[in-house]
Amino acid sequence: MKFKLPYGLKDGKLVHISDVEKGLKCECVCPACNHPLIARKGEKTAHHFAHYNGSECAKSVETALHSISPSKYLFKANNLNSTE
Ligand SMILES: [Zn+2]
Repeated sequence: MKFKLPYGLKDGKLVHISDVEKGLKCECVCPACNHPLIARKGEKTAHHFAHYNGSECAKSVETALHSISPSKYLFKANNLNSTE
């Protein structure tokens, strides 16, 4: 099962999919790998962010969730170990 990313990073802050414009206009990047994200707001699937370059990054959801809880909007760059 693939996790859908509900949060993107915009201007250094996590924003929810419901708070941004559809598509590339969301101007968000992946919290884990910093690649541009597209806001997918279709009719059929749950709204989520997808990587613009089509790549999947397994850590993105985890990273996003860790980032907002418990320390809201506090980013620590030390636990972004990129193994890709
Ligand atoms: Zn990513």
